[in-house]
Amino acid sequence: MSDLNSALNFIIVGASVSGLASAIALRSAGHNVLVLEKDPQLGGIGSIPNGSSCAQIPPNACKILVDWGLEEEIKAKSASIAGFSLYSYPGGQVPSPDHLGINRYDPEMLTEARGGYMQLAHRDLIRILHDRALKPYDLDQPNGEPSGSRISVIFGAEVVNVDCDACSVTLRSGEIHTADAIIGADGANGPVRRALMEEEDTSPESDVPTGMAAYSAIVPNALALDGIDWFTWSTLWLGPNRGLRTFPVGKENDVSLMMYTTDSSHDGTWTEEAEIKFTDVLGDCDQHIQKMVALAGPATCVQIKEPGDLECWVSESGRVLILGDAAHPLPPGSLHSYSISLEDGLFIGKIFSHTRNTDRVPEFLRAFQEHREPRCTRIRQIEKEYIFYITLPEGEMQAARDASLRERHAAGENALGGDLQQMAEDLRMVFGYDAADDADEWWVTWGRYHRSSVSSPG
Ligand SMILES: Cc1cc2nc3c(=O)[nH]c(=O)nc-3n(C[C@H](O)[C@H](O)[C@H](O)COP(=O)(O)OP(=O)(O)OC[C@H]3O[C@@H](n4cnc5c(N)ncnc54)[C@H](O)[C@@H]3O)c2cc1C
Repeated sequence: MSDLNSALNFIIVGASVSGLASAIALRSAGHNVLVLEKDPQLGGIGSIPNGSSCAQIPPNACKILVDWGLEEEIKAKSASIAGFSLYSYPGGQVPSPDHLGINRYDPEMLTEARGGYMQLAHRDLIRILHDRALKPYDLDQPNGEPSGSRISVIFGAEVVNVDCDACSVTLRSGEIHTADAIIGADGANGPVRRALMEEEDTSPESDVPTGMAAYSAIVPNALALDGIDWFTWSTLWLGPNRGLRTFPVGKENDVSLMMYTTDSSHDGTWTEEAEIKFTDVLGDCDQHIQKMVALAGPATCVQIKEPGDLECWVSESGRVLILGDAAHPLPPGSLHSYSISLEDGLFIGKIFSHTRNTDRVPEFLRAFQEHREPRCTRIRQIEKEYIFYITLPEGEMQAARDASLRERHAAGENALGGDLQQMAEDLRMVFGYDAADDADEWWVTWGRYHRSSVSSPG
């Protein structure tokens, strides 16, 4: 354990988005970080189709990457879109696309949110975050290396046991590591989330299948496909009981396909190709989509589950916290999966920039949950509403949805207007959020009123 004035020691389990983001932010705050990743290499490369499944970076995440000095690197690897274009996805063959409308992202809203809309391969984002986490600080810069903080990332280090009271983890190799705090960034099925579930007597079986699944695949170099501009817009195909989305990924003219459907006959994870072909689940549809899907690589399939109730993101000992998907799993393929993981990382680092006192760890970890949970719950709700909306079964609601989209389109209006105005406002709220401001607000309002913090109470 640390002395009052030395850096705190953190163990982070998982070197994906939330683990690496937390590592960057905690190191910047002057603490020592050990990241343990079970996979032998970064980002599951090799096990996902083309290594290029899509990370969506909306403005609330983009501004975090910009503030970490990563703007140029992210831009060099990203495609960006102007908005989305909607089509119907009826059963039966359709000779030409049945266009329902367009939603252009308001440039003013993007400027106000201080960020763009980027889409890059998962493995590129992970590589950029990893390199940033390990980057030697420039001692000549004002934000040069914070008083000797150390960081290491160990691959092939599978955590098999978490002792919340001793604040230690045991690896499969038998090695034990101890710290002042453990951050579980190990996803929805990881050992840290499991340890907290055991404390609450909740079992992973309490996750409830929704009967829906998300299939995804990559179409490499989709330039040859004509008839629809796949690169300016994300396209959204609304069918009965299914909704399909396409969006450009990175700079290689790849297109990512993601379909939500009630056909949940496959089961897998993001890292398993599971020998599924996208054509197996496509059904009859527009010929443009059929041509696109015919070129797709192998698909992955993830079941959509309603996570069982886990009340506390912090262990009873106050030393172990979960964040990212481990704390608030979103439906697979959610627009906000990556952004709220980056926000979590930034937030935890920001609040810990104010203390080196190991006695304050439980209070700070609990503050994390108090502040982040309402936002993450709201975002989960928004994602569920969105999936519900795009996968409506045939019937009155679906007919009303399509009619009102067509009406707005004919009037030259954005799709997110009229009865969908609430969705537009939700987006504005989500994109405009700044995790750094929120963490500062916690500090000014609550955190600083304690005598043993690094900064004086001001
Ligand atoms: C290879 C891969 C591809 C993905 N592709 C997409 C996609 O295309 N679209 C999408 O919306 N989401 C995708 N995701 C999920 C997305 O990254 C997350 O939903 C979100 O970004 C939250 O990230 P996270 O860091 O909290 O969790 P995750 O990204 O799930 O990362 C958890 C990390 O913890 C590690 N871990 C788990 N158990 C242990 C253990 N016992 N010991 C040590 N380490 C452990 C895992 O190997 C992984 O690196 C993908 C995830 C992965 C790992």
